Amino acid sequence: MYSHDVVIVGSGLAGLRAALEMAGHLDVAIISKVYPSRSHSGAAQGGVAAALSNMDGDSVEAHTYDTVKGADFIGDQDAIEILCSDAPRTIIELEHYGCAFSRTDENKIAQRAFGGHSFKRACYSADRTGHALLHTLFEQSMKRGAELQIYSEWYVTRLIIEDGICRGVVALDIKTGKLEIFHAKTILFATGGYGRAFKITSNAYANTGDGITAAYKAGIPLQDMEFVQYHPTGLYEHGILLSEAARGEGGYLINSDGDRFMSKYAPTKMELGPRDIVSRSEQTEINEGRGAGPKKDYVLLDLRHLGKAKIMERLPQIYHLAKDFIDVDAIKDPVPIQPTAHYSMGGIPADNDCQVFLNETELCKGFFAAGECSCISVHGANRLGTNSLLEALVFGRRAGKKMLHATNEMKFSPVNEKKEISAAKLEIDKLLYNKGSEHLASIREELQETMTYKVGVYRNANDMEQAQQKVNELKDRFTRVKVSEKGKNFNVNIQEALELSHMLEYSELIVAGAKARKESRGAHSRDDYPNRDDENWMKHTLVFRQPDGSCELKYKPVRVTRFEPEERTY
Ligand SMILES: Cc1cc2nc3c(=O)[nH]c(=O)nc-3n(C[C@H](O)[C@H](O)[C@H](O)COP(=O)(O)OP(=O)(O)OC[C@H]3O[C@@H](n4cnc5c(N)ncnc54)[C@H](O)[C@@H]3O)c2cc1C
Repeated sequence: MYSHDVVIVGSGLAGLRAALEMAGHLDVAIISKVYPSRSHSGAAQGGVAAALSNMDGDSVEAHTYDTVKGADFIGDQDAIEILCSDAPRTIIELEHYGCAFSRTDENKIAQRAFGGHSFKRACYSADRTGHALLHTLFEQSMKRGAELQIYSEWYVTRLIIEDGICRGVVALDIKTGKLEIFHAKTILFATGGYGRAFKITSNAYANTGDGITAAYKAGIPLQDMEFVQYHPTGLYEHGILLSEAARGEGGYLINSDGDRFMSKYAPTKMELGPRDIVSRSEQTEINEGRGAGPKKDYVLLDLRHLGKAKIMERLPQIYHLAKDFIDVDAIKDPVPIQPTAHYSMGGIPADNDCQVFLNETELCKGFFAAGECSCISVHGANRLGTNSLLEALVFGRRAGKKMLHATNEMKFSPVNEKKEISAAKLEIDKLLYNKGSEHLASIREELQETMTYKVGVYRNANDMEQAQQKVNELKDRFTRVKVSEKGKNFNVNIQEALELSHMLEYSELIVAGAKARKESRGAHSRDDYPNRDDENWMKHTLVFRQPDGSCELKYKPVRVTRFEPEERTY
C-alpha cells in the first residue's frame, strides 16, 4: 500500500496545476495512465480564453455573458463568473511560468477570434497551445523535484468511498500488472474527457472516461452526461481535430456548390458561430444532399485565400494533419471535414472549489474533481472554444488551494486493503478467465458506431431507443469478451478491456440523460423536440447508480445570477 497526503489522478493541465499549488506544503502524488506530457491537454490547438483587452475593448463581463449564452443558459453563472474573472491573471501566470504565447507586433500576447466569443480573446501559441501549456506546467512540476511524486503508467481502476468519505484508489502498475492501494487524506480526479465512445472523435485513445466511471461506481452521481460537444471541423473519416483557429484566422466553410452556407444559419457570426450551431448547420447541409465527395457526406474547410505564409505561420499543424492523414494540401485545396465528438460537458458534479457532490446537496468528504472530468458547470449545454484549457487551469488551481486547507484538517480514514484489492482483482480475473469468444474490438466498434450515428449531432426518440438496446446488448456480450493476452507486464489487452467496460457504462448514461431530456438545448438537439423548453428543462441532470447496476435520473436547479435566459441567436 502506498500512502500520500494527497493523490491526484491525472497529469493534464488540471492535475498539474493543482499539484503545483500543494507541492512543498503536503506530500503530493500524481498518478497517470500515460506519461504526463502525453495527456490530452497537449493536443489542444486553438487557444485559451481571457479578456486581456490586448486587441480591442473586451471585458470580463463580455466574456461572462458570451459563456452564459454559449452554454444555452444552463451553465451555473456564479461558476462562470469565477472562470472569466480569473482568466487574465491565469494567462499572466502561465506567461511567467514560461509559456511562449504568440505575440502582436507591439510584443503583447496576441489574441485571435473564436466561435461564440464577441471579441478576439483566444491567447495562443501558433496552433499548438495545449502543447505549450502542458510542457510549461510539466517543467514546473519537474523543477519541484521530490516535492511531487509522479506515478507514470499506473492505471486507476477503483475509487474507495465509504460513509461519505473518500479514502483512496486502487491502481494497476501497467509495467508489472500489480494492483496497489493508494491511501490518501484527499483525492483529486483530473482524468479528462470521454469522447472515445464515439467513432468519429477528436479525442486521444486515453479519453475513455475511467475517472467518471470509477466515481459513478463508487456511488457519486454524474451530471449532465447528455451534453456531448460535436466540433464542426473533424478531419473527414478520421475525426482528428482541425482547430477552430482555422476559422478564427478567416477560413470558410463551403458545401458541394461552393456556397458559404453559414450565411443561412448564423448570418452575423458566420463560421464563428458557436460549435453546436455550426455542427448542426454542416449536418443539415449533408442531410439535405449538399455534402461533397462521392458519398456527399462531408463539407469543406477552405483556407486557400489565407495564403501560404499565414497558413504556415498560424496554422502549421492543421496544414500537416490534412497533408499527412488525407493527402490534401490546404494551401491549394479545400479540406474535407465533418462534425467530430470533441468535448464532454458532463461529468463529476463539483462546487466552485471543486469539492464533489455525493447527491443533490451534500459533499463527499475528501473528494475533488477538476478539468474536463468535472461538471462545475461552466460550460452548460455547449462549451465555447478556448474555455476548457482555461477551466482546467483556473479550477485546477482552485482545487489545489481548497485541498491545501482540507487536507491539513483531515486524517487518514481506514481502508480495508484486502477487500479492495480482491474486488479489483476479481474484475480483472473475470475478464482474463471467462470462457467467452466475443471480440473486444468488435464490441468497441459497434458501440462507437451506435453513439456516433444514433446519439450524434441530431437525436430523436427512435434512434436513442435503438442505441439503448444496442448498449445493453453490448454490455451483455462484454461479459463474454475474450482477452487473449494473459501476461502481467504491459498487458494492454486487459487495459483496453477495462476501458471498454467504462465506455459501455457511461454510454448508457449519455443515452439515458438524452432520452429523458425532451427539448433541444446546446449540443443536445432533438428532431422530435426542436425547441428549448426553459419551463420544464432549465435544470441539471444527475444520474445515480442503483444497487442492481441500473441508473436513476434526478434533477437539480441551475444557478442564475445576472443573466436571465433569452433566445439564443447569432
Ligand atoms: C484535439 C483537441 C483539441 C483541443 N483544443 C482545445 C483548445 O484549443 N482550447 C481549449 O480550451 N480546449 C481545447 N480542447 C479541450 C481541452 O484540451 C481539454 O478539455 C483539457 O485539456 C482537459 O484537461 P484535463 O487536465 O482535464 O485532462 P487531460 O489533459 O485529458 O488529462 C487527463 C489525465 O488523466 C489521466 N487518466 C485518465 N484516466 C486515468 C486512469 N484510469 N488512471 C490513471 N490516470 C488516468 C491521463 O493519463 C491524463 O494524464 C481540445 C481537446 C482536444 C481533444
